Amino acid sequence: MLARPPNSVDPSHFDKLICVRCGIQYEETDRTQRVNCPTCDDPREAVPPTGQAWTTLRDLYDTPSTRDTAEPKYKIDISTDPREPNVTILTTRPRFAIGQSCFVLTTPHGLVIWEIMPFLDQPTVDAINAIGEVKAILISHPHFYNTPFMWSEAFGDVPVYISSVDKHWLMTKDLKGVIRTWEDEIEILPGAKATQLGGHFPGSSVLEFEDKLFVADTIVVTPAALYHFDRQEGYTGFSFQWSVLSKIPLAPPQISKMWDRIRRLNFSTVYGGWELHAGVMQVVRDSEMDERERKEGRTAKFKILDSMRRQVQAMGHEITPDMGLEL
Ligand SMILES: [Zn+2]
Ligand SMILES: [Zn+2]
Repeated sequence: MLARPPNSVDPSHFDKLICVRCGIQYEETDRTQRVNCPTCDDPREAVPPTGQAWTTLRDLYDTPSTRDTAEPKYKIDISTDPREPNVTILTTRPRFAIGQSCFVLTTPHGLVIWEIMPFLDQPTVDAINAIGEVKAILISHPHFYNTPFMWSEAFGDVPVYISSVDKHWLMTKDLKGVIRTWEDEIEILPGAKATQLGGHFPGSSVLEFEDKLFVADTIVVTPAALYHFDRQEGYTGFSFQWSVLSKIPLAPPQISKMWDRIRRLNFSTVYGGWELHAGVMQVVRDSEMDERERKEGRTAKFKILDSMRRQVQAMGHEITPDMGLEL
């Protein structure tokens, strides 16, 4: 075996089918028993033009690198945000499935894992355990409901928090009773609070930790958001999508509801769920704004509001007071 699967995980996890496109794992182990991936058949994802394809964790662990056959093909890149020592970023290399990153957040009361990826290996488990004790896993929305039970087992059957309204999107069985469902908002550990904004999925959530907001694709960080010098007013740093992939935007009433929740949160940095390109995360920091933006109050939070107003207008609506799209 080339890559090292997590030691404390029951090997039955390794033979269950995983959708190659989205990374969601299913109970079936036989490719003839499962034809469709409901997550990919949903308009918020897509079946690729080459058709539905399956793999397993065992296939991923056993695939050698094409460059060096003694090395595994898949690994997890682990880095600490140089400006935020309490934020560790995990990314599978090479990219697998939808390619999201996940975050290990160090609180004084233990670690919270925000989001998971389909792949996990023992070196990554060792690296996370060296930082501290994992107390909880929190997943923002069903596109990341990939291998939650393997992740939970790898860290001692820790609880996995998902939105109650989206729980029917879990495709594997909770044999050990680790799933915790929640609504509205929840403090996972002191200092780490999740809030459901809805929109992309009914229970799509964000996580507030210290002065940082983790948004996955509940709020989409656009490429325009990451440059802050001599910017004219009016660019869009964020967008609000029901289907990110098929570019189906959220309508004004949903955007208003999202803002009603966000306006109460305090943050000066926003982390999206993906890299802009290899090694560069979608991160928008107030501390990186230039003097002009600072003077004009164009913070990350303001830019979310400003982008919401722009999206509503681009969809042909006037901004009216009842929308509540004000700071
Ligand atoms: Zn799928
Ligand atoms: Zn999504």
